[in-house]
Amino acid sequence: MNTTHHRHIPTRMCVICRRRFPRNSLNRFVKGTNSQGKMTVYADEKKRMPGRGFYVCNSRTCQKKIEKVSGWHCKCRGES
Ligand SMILES: [Zn+2]
Repeated sequence: MNTTHHRHIPTRMCVICRRRFPRNSLNRFVKGTNSQGKMTVYADEKKRMPGRGFYVCNSRTCQKKIEKVSGWHCKCRGES
């Protein structure tokens, strides 16, 4: 049994405030497109979704910002 306590914990940076946190205390989001081909951000609660993920910490400021981002729709293309 290896119970050595490593000082190195895997960390990820919050994309909003750019501070580092242990990976398991962050919320993972994945960028993707919905059925209409629009860009969306999915909350990856199980941390198992494929694709490029990014992490957001639990601070209120960051949570609010990511909520906005999650509501993003790419408006650069004409909707038909
Ligand atoms: Zn943050």
